[in-house]
Amino acid sequence: MTDALFAVIECLHSMKNFYDLTIIGGGLAGSEAALQAAKWGLNVQLIEMRPTVTTGAHISNNLAELVCSNSLGSTLPDRAPGVLKQELRQMGSYLLDFAEKTSVPAGRALAVDRNMFSQLVTDRLSASSNIHITREEANTIPDGAVIIATGPLTSLNFSKTISELTGEDALHFYDAIAPIINFESINLNIAFRASRYQNVESSGGDYINLPFTKAEYYHFVELLTAAKRIPLRSFELEVEKGVRAGAHEFFEGCLPVEILAQRGQDSLAFGPMRPVGLTDPHTNSRPFAVIQLRQDNLVGNLYNMVGFQTNLTYGEQIRVFRNIPGLEHAEFERFGQMHRNTFISSPKLLLPTLQLRDRPNIFFAGQITGVEGYAGSIATGLLASWNASRLINNQPPLTLPETTILGALCHYITHADLSNFQPMKANFGILPPLHLDRKAGKLERAQLYSERSSKDLKIFMENL
Ligand SMILES: Cc1cc2nc3c(=O)[nH]c(=O)nc-3n(C[C@H](O)[C@H](O)[C@H](O)COP(=O)(O)OP(=O)(O)OC[C@H]3O[C@@H](n4cnc5c(N)ncnc54)[C@H](O)[C@@H]3O)c2cc1C
Repeated sequence: MTDALFAVIECLHSMKNFYDLTIIGGGLAGSEAALQAAKWGLNVQLIEMRPTVTTGAHISNNLAELVCSNSLGSTLPDRAPGVLKQELRQMGSYLLDFAEKTSVPAGRALAVDRNMFSQLVTDRLSASSNIHITREEANTIPDGAVIIATGPLTSLNFSKTISELTGEDALHFYDAIAPIINFESINLNIAFRASRYQNVESSGGDYINLPFTKAEYYHFVELLTAAKRIPLRSFELEVEKGVRAGAHEFFEGCLPVEILAQRGQDSLAFGPMRPVGLTDPHTNSRPFAVIQLRQDNLVGNLYNMVGFQTNLTYGEQIRVFRNIPGLEHAEFERFGQMHRNTFISSPKLLLPTLQLRDRPNIFFAGQITGVEGYAGSIATGLLASWNASRLINNQPPLTLPETTILGALCHYITHADLSNFQPMKANFGILPPLHLDRKAGKLERAQLYSERSSKDLKIFMENL
């Protein structure tokens, strides 16, 4: 192709309304949204700021990069994240399919080789003739149909644009990510492989477990609570320049371990370090506490510390975490760190169709809406894309049945009490009650929720 032809194409691409749909943010929600819209035959522009502008947490140039854990959560049909996956499958999610294609062993969870996963997504997006990927920071919101999926680390300039659009400040709180360790550096004379509740006789298991005696545990808690943390200063400064920080709060579902430890010396032993369902084959007994490591890539040379988000300085992470039995010589491939989390006041601003109440051509998707987690972000990307496509084709946007996890999540984020609004993960608590005429146990209720979601979604989709 000649330079002149390239110039004409670029010029056409930069013209207003050349695209049917503009998606801002090529993360989990934006990537799913782009692939869905392309499937409906729309001409899509996907704007991703990386690598020109970085988020501080993403490390590659790939689209749909998983920034922390490599797990998309449970696959069990009687767990809410499992039901959400079942719904994603019913609705033809591309990213769920890619996740399954790049999965690594993780017991009953869907964990992926993060590089293979994001590479597969990037390749598929790049190969689509309906999708034009623009690598630049979006600072304005274009005319026409738009999906904003800039995620928890929305650039500060764009946060201001969103604030101007919505007429109020974006909210912020802080999350933390867990370290990743090189497998070769783990001492397997101390650590042992097992999944929780696995038969003691059977060898192997998907997790590497680092067992603590009582004395080792309390010594570790002491070191952890006294260790130096990275001050939040840089975030605070950024926030002051940008938008209001709602509060420098931590999200309860993703607390740094040092904060948890500070709440009480046994809180870790009842939290991420609980030993239930595990027997150490070296001692043939249950350890006092355990840290689990989960495989992070297909090759199996990287392991992440499950539930061990931290904001200790990198030097302190080496010093303190090398006191963990089995990690005396640990090599850290990635250190834990804190991150900013941005989400809008969805109860006030959004409809359950994920449209902005005042500007229905603008959709929000992903974590910025107040759904929490990878699968929820993918799912809202899918729904926003379906609805944007319907709007463009003069069809009414869809509100999913509240008996589905996705429908319930969209209902929750758009109806929650604004004064207490915090991101919400997939869970059965947000579903409408079952109205049984008898008492049912937890497991039976979970199965009934799962069956109801599957049936209602099937009927809903048949009637589209
Ligand atoms: C550090 C961190 C750790 C997390 N850990 C987990 C976890 O372990 N498990 C879990 O389930 N969830 C986790 N989450 C929460 C959430 O599930 C993920 O952030 C998920 O990736 C959200 O999907 P998303 O599509 O909304 O945003 P993202 O996947 O972050 O995608 C947003 C994209 O928008 C781009 N972008 C931002 N601003 C602009 C702009 N102005 N112009 C163009 N592009 C822009 C970003 O570069 C990014 O690629 C974590 C979040 C963070 C930040």
